[in-house]
Amino acid sequence: MHRITLIPGDGIGPSICQVAVRVVEAAGVKVTWDEVEAGLPAIDKFKDPLPQQVLDSIRENKVALKGPLTTPVGSGFRSVNVALRKEFDLYANVRPARSFDGVRSRYADIDLVVVRENTEEFYAGIEHFIDPARSAAETIGIVTRSGSERIIKYAYEYARKNHRKKVTTVHKANILKYTGGLFLEVSREIGASYPDIETEDRIVDNMAMQMVVNPYQFDVIVTTNLFGDILSDLASGLVGGLGLAPGANIGYDAAIFEAVHGSAPDIAGKNLANPVAIVLASALMLRHIGEESAASRIEKAVAQVLKEGKSVTKDVNAESPVGTVEMGDAIIKALIG
Ligand code: NAD
Repeated sequence: MHRITLIPGDGIGPSICQVAVRVVEAAGVKVTWDEVEAGLPAIDKFKDPLPQQVLDSIRENKVALKGPLTTPVGSGFRSVNVALRKEFDLYANVRPARSFDGVRSRYADIDLVVVRENTEEFYAGIEHFIDPARSAAETIGIVTRSGSERIIKYAYEYARKNHRKKVTTVHKANILKYTGGLFLEVSREIGASYPDIETEDRIVDNMAMQMVVNPYQFDVIVTTNLFGDILSDLASGLVGGLGLAPGANIGYDAAIFEAVHGSAPDIAGKNLANPVAIVLASALMLRHIGEESAASRIEKAVAQVLKEGKSVTKDVNAESPVGTVEMGDAIIKALIG
């Protein structure tokens, strides 16, 4: 029996998390879900977007499945997602983007993984207006040698373990000579100690263009926090959209699994959200806790439902879509055969 923290989140979060929980149970994995609230629902109840019981639960269980959490734009409380990554030092954000048969997209047979540094640089929250008149603002992005080393090593170890051939480091060292320069320097040092894996680097603006023009040239991509956030959304766009992209936030002592997408307020409460991203995130989670067979069976069931194309949400089939719940039913049906 596994004990896992479940944070349903807000917006489309509770509805897609409900599907993921049903799918994990249908895969035969015995889980006691420790359900806790964070984000908007926690503010309503506890006046705190990140109550202590959420932290205690993750600290105890070491693994969490998390729905998306809304972050107010420009003002208001700071991102709970970022706070969780910092609190548990979840330094590696792993975001695979894979094509599925049956999903209309610009390319077929894409298989990329973005490994994003998750704790440093512009997401550390070191920012302020420089004067009371708010005439200018400053955000400080710190990149450390140790932070760069651990994420770049993680990317190479991931590549080795998953039989991948190449690691591309993405940076902006031509302009950000110190932060970008340090990240690039460390990547070259570490790359040299993995002769079995091809090493290359790209400047981020060129990388964005190259990923759109010829994504097949890339395999594992490792980069700093902000670039990783942007390029992983770009990668999900290459394979059919955010509804299909899972993510893992990995630290030494805890791991949180979630969809790449956000709370999608435009479609919340309408039974429209695609549950695949969070279901695939739950498969990543099961693999992380040693339930490899259940993880593979879930991934196969998702691929089958997408390939058949009959029981999929509107983002995948706009002509004759089904709802979130019904797509979940179809995944479970495919899973239990
Ligand atoms: P979003 O990812 O929520 O939505 C972007 C677009 O993709 C929208 O049109 C939405 O309808 C669509 N979309 C997203 N997920 C979908 C799904 N599963 N099925 C079908 N369509 C889907 O991005 P946003 O609108 O920029 O952000 C909304 C909120 O989510 C913001 O407050 C943001 O801070 C937050 N956010 C949270 C996380 C997280 O919890 N990890 C990640 C990203 C954004």
